[in-house]
Amino acid sequence: MNRKQKFIQQWKRKGSVFSFLFFVLLFHFFSSCEKRAARHQQTIQWMQDDKKVKVLTTTNMINDLVKEIGGDYVNSMSLIQGELDPHSYQLVKGDDEKLRYAEIIFYNGLGLEHGPSLYQYLMNSDRAVALGDWLEKQNKEQIIYVNGYKDPHVWMDIELWSQTIPLIVETLSEQTPQHASYYRENGRKLQLEMAAVHHDVTEQLHAIPEKQRYLVTSHDAFNYFARAYLSEQEERKSGRWRKRFAAPEGLAPESQLSTSHIRAIIDYLKAHQVHLLFPETNVSQDSIRKIVQAGKEEGLDIQVACCPLYGDAMGPLGSEGESYLKMIRYNGRVLAEQMNDQSKKLLSEKY
Ligand SMILES: [Zn+2]
Repeated sequence: MNRKQKFIQQWKRKGSVFSFLFFVLLFHFFSSCEKRAARHQQTIQWMQDDKKVKVLTTTNMINDLVKEIGGDYVNSMSLIQGELDPHSYQLVKGDDEKLRYAEIIFYNGLGLEHGPSLYQYLMNSDRAVALGDWLEKQNKEQIIYVNGYKDPHVWMDIELWSQTIPLIVETLSEQTPQHASYYRENGRKLQLEMAAVHHDVTEQLHAIPEKQRYLVTSHDAFNYFARAYLSEQEERKSGRWRKRFAAPEGLAPESQLSTSHIRAIIDYLKAHQVHLLFPETNVSQDSIRKIVQAGKEEGLDIQVACCPLYGDAMGPLGSEGESYLKMIRYNGRVLAEQMNDQSKKLLSEKY
């Protein structure tokens, strides 16, 4: 092959790479246009005059409960859509209009929505109701503190999250008292359904040997999950359930890892013989990759689990995390399968 032919061949190869990248970019562009159009359509539908109570929730995990309880008389929509981070969400064009239009705004509280513009609006609105803050008022002991800060991820424990049902029922009933018994009945059914899933997830994870029930994910979203589903009863009483979970990033994903954070996770992995790290669907995998690299340098065999878990955001429609209960069920199933595989692997290494 002469120089000219080589040159042409190289450019052909480069050309196919450029075409591939072009099509990838084009695909992303059209799929984000499609998502934006779907959201716009959803907002139009929510704002139409259908005589229903207009509810705006900050997250989809709240929206799901409100839809179940409100049924035919409530039109509820989530402000924070898709995989956006609820911790740092700031109001964007059009949000003001939605917030003003809503008759009731349900939000998580406990410091979750701390993006300044959204936080300010919620603090100054007399239509805003914080589910997590209400849970804290009912029983302060239920709320987990991490380094002196309230952990807002209360939805990760189904039983605890179901305790918000009476507040949603009461708030909707105040708005439309004629439907109070309807909301109460829907709330009762939802309570039963949530209790059943809570029971299933507990059983599924307790089938894993106790020594294998240690979890590491990207950020501190799984404390409530670990307390509810990975720990033993006496650990919940003594507070020793905390050893069941560790994460390199704090209560809000920040992607900035110090060497002491990495050191702490490596020590945790060694202490509890953990070989799997679980990424989260809406959090960058940078910190997970850094931990794997640091572990390798110390001769540890660390792997990234096959499937990311749902932490701060539900999945899109049609996915295994498309509803609140599906998302927690999915987390339980993935953890049970992966922890079981890890346990088999350790046994085969031993014998
Ligand atoms: Zn979070």
